[in-house]
Amino acid sequence: MLKKKVISKLAKIVGQDNISTSQEDLVCYSYDAVNKKFLPDAVIFPADSGEISAVLKLANKEQFPVIPRGAGTGFSGGTLPIWGGVVLVTSRLNQIIEIDTDNLTAVVEPGVVCGEFQKEVEKEGLYYPPDPASLAFSTLGGNVAECAGGPHALKYGVTRDYVTGLEAVLPTGEIFTTGVKTMKGVVGYDLTRLIVGSEGTLAIVTRIYLRLIPKPETTLTIMAIFKNIEAATRTVASIIKGKTVPSKLEFMDQESIKCVETYHNLNLPSDTKALLLIELDGDLITVERQADSVEEICREQGSFRVDRARNSQEAESLWEVRQAISPSLAQLNPTKINEDIVVPRSKIPYIINQIEKIKNNYQLQIVSFGHAGDGNIHVNIMIDDKIPGEKEKADKATKEIFQEVLEAGGTLSGEHGIGITKASYLAMELPEKEIELMKKIKRVFDPNEILNPGKIFYGKV
Ligand SMILES: Cc1cc2nc3c(=O)[nH]c(=O)nc-3n(C[C@H](O)[C@H](O)[C@H](O)COP(=O)(O)OP(=O)(O)OC[C@H]3O[C@@H](n4cnc5c(N)ncnc54)[C@H](O)[C@@H]3O)c2cc1C
Repeated sequence: MLKKKVISKLAKIVGQDNISTSQEDLVCYSYDAVNKKFLPDAVIFPADSGEISAVLKLANKEQFPVIPRGAGTGFSGGTLPIWGGVVLVTSRLNQIIEIDTDNLTAVVEPGVVCGEFQKEVEKEGLYYPPDPASLAFSTLGGNVAECAGGPHALKYGVTRDYVTGLEAVLPTGEIFTTGVKTMKGVVGYDLTRLIVGSEGTLAIVTRIYLRLIPKPETTLTIMAIFKNIEAATRTVASIIKGKTVPSKLEFMDQESIKCVETYHNLNLPSDTKALLLIELDGDLITVERQADSVEEICREQGSFRVDRARNSQEAESLWEVRQAISPSLAQLNPTKINEDIVVPRSKIPYIINQIEKIKNNYQLQIVSFGHAGDGNIHVNIMIDDKIPGEKEKADKATKEIFQEVLEAGGTLSGEHGIGITKASYLAMELPEKEIELMKKIKRVFDPNEILNPGKIFYGKV
């Protein structure tokens, strides 16, 4: 519980209008996209890095946690004030400072919403590929902190591949910059890469230097549907092996199709058991040629219907289906365990098969969908809280899935991060020495464990 004296010092730093301790606000900032709640002591909305620096210096002096927060769409509980303290929201740092069409770069503040930035960039004929399904509301600061990916990661990479430099505030309050504004730069350690994906535990990002690319001339979307899941996953492996790299290659199993159909009329044949959504981009001639080849592969591997979107509206409505999965799942069952495992692409058929076995063994509803093209599958274990023992069963199934993923040469999280939801599984993937080295880095950045404590590592570092 923060002392009144500390609250008034915070109010002095950010201004009385930019701090709240009202119960309504505390509740609003007590949760993110994970179904857990922890009340903060206060919520603040600083205007710039100077105010953030002053807040962190005060936090070190008075020993209270500070938890950075963008839009609160995180899937691993990164913004939850599990040890109380102050939630620091970046919504007022929301300026696109520069889009440099000569150098194909941009400078933004962390509170800019990803999708809005993309629209502005595209007005200049440029392109910022990272596209989390949450892009309509998630912030670039949150994307940097989680190293967000999305369907485009298959061809274009993830957030880290576009960040050339950062301005950030250390947990002890010093403002510093990392990286470069140029396309290349190898001076010193790559602190930019260390901070990208550090889940708000090493620094608060206050400015982001990004690289952009030219916008592809055209895109084309294909939907292929299958009577069995094996044929769909085999098709993914064949497309990749065929040396066409789609700009998106997404997979939905029968459960996720059923789930979206509760809210959207998809008009799919009743025996549809899996579908692939594929986007190709580039110049018109290449895209048409690649589309012919991809359609042929889909049919050869057993797709019984392959549809090519005839125009951008048709393509958009197909992608809306994909974006609707997470919200539909949350509406159907807010208590779900949401994992985002990654396996080598050739192992997708294997892992999907193992997940099916685990699902049948434990008699659980497990919904799988995601970025099949880069091996990143979202595995959602739906639990009914009212059934005794269901949560324990789901935890056991999760652990078994993780074991299978690691044995297949995969990793536990492709884009959602560790946060609190996967902290207890960290040692399954990382050797003790690596975890200890990471903890040492955390202690160098944050000697008093002020910034977003209790995340990534289980308990105190
Ligand atoms: C429907 C839905 C679909 C999603 N789809 C995807 C997807 O396709 N791909 C994907 O990668 N993720 C996805 N996500 C997860 C989430 O949207 C991403 O992790 C996103 O990057 C979080 O952004 P945010 O602004 O909401 O960050 P928040 O949730 O507010 O914060 C996330 C983490 O970043 C830290 N943080 C925030 N701002 C800063 C800052 N300025 N400096 C330092 N740390 C900071 C926080 O402390 C926290 O640890 C999805 C979420 C939802 C709800």
